Amino acid sequence: MSVEGTLIGGFTDHHVHLQLVDPSRLRDSRLGRVLDLGSAPAAISALAADPPGATVSYAGAFLTAPGGYPSDRDWAPEGSIREIADVDAAEAAVAEMKEAGASVIKVASNSTAGPVFDDDMIRAIVAIADRLGLPVVVHAEGAGEAQRMPQLGVRALAHTPFTERLSDVEVSRQAGRIAWISTLAIHDGAAREIALDNLRRFHAHGGTVRYGTDLGNGDQPADLNPAEVAALREAGVRGGALIRALVPVAATAERRFVLPAHDADPFDIVPAPPAHEAARRSHAQTSPHTRAPRLSHPEGSR
Ligand SMILES: [Zn+2]
Repeated sequence: MSVEGTLIGGFTDHHVHLQLVDPSRLRDSRLGRVLDLGSAPAAISALAADPPGATVSYAGAFLTAPGGYPSDRDWAPEGSIREIADVDAAEAAVAEMKEAGASVIKVASNSTAGPVFDDDMIRAIVAIADRLGLPVVVHAEGAGEAQRMPQLGVRALAHTPFTERLSDVEVSRQAGRIAWISTLAIHDGAAREIALDNLRRFHAHGGTVRYGTDLGNGDQPADLNPAEVAALREAGVRGGALIRALVPVAATAERRFVLPAHDADPFDIVPAPPAHEAARRSHAQTSPHTRAPRLSHPEGSR
């Protein structure tokens, strides 16, 4: 069998909540890595230590203002929220997440559902997290919330802004400073149109788009989500750009797929042969058509 294409370690979903789904569903998926953006730290670190097929990176708990979102939501698992009253509490919470193995810090800033941190407090959390090498990802919702994050040092928005249409000037400012995790398919109606419009212009301005579904929110496949991929394409994120949103890191030893070089459709991936088998075959040179998959960055295959 001839296998030509780019070797990838599966796709990354940059926004999931594994406590809200059956994580064993990931085992036969096309995902190689997931980023959990809000779970009880003890539960998610235990899951990451015994991963369900895909590698699990995580934020641990939601950091929020006292009484802030999602402290009033019944879907929020027990132990998944830290209400932060001052800088000392922020120090303690960020250190706790680092100790639990977090690789990012998640802040909730939803002004439609309760109090949010002021600018100084978000700057303080960013500075504390930065000292521990942890980028801050924010759920920004409500008028003006997405707009204030780039200048506070926040590295990514957990959702494409969906509250309001951002101006072109604002979108270009965001594109130069902050990544957006897509999560387009969780919306319908006006919020979906707003998010699509914002993301279309953000992508056109060269902004960094990361594929994410908010898995655990609504009924979704625990796999590459066709609705999210379709929405990204609708926003103009296609071909190599779509693959970059899905594959920010190189192949991992545990999970290997071949993405055919002729076409960047993410649904065309096939499982790669085990590394030892590919090496043996290429060594034996049984046929001039038999080749080990080339190890390269997906951008190189366009
Ligand atoms: Zn979420």
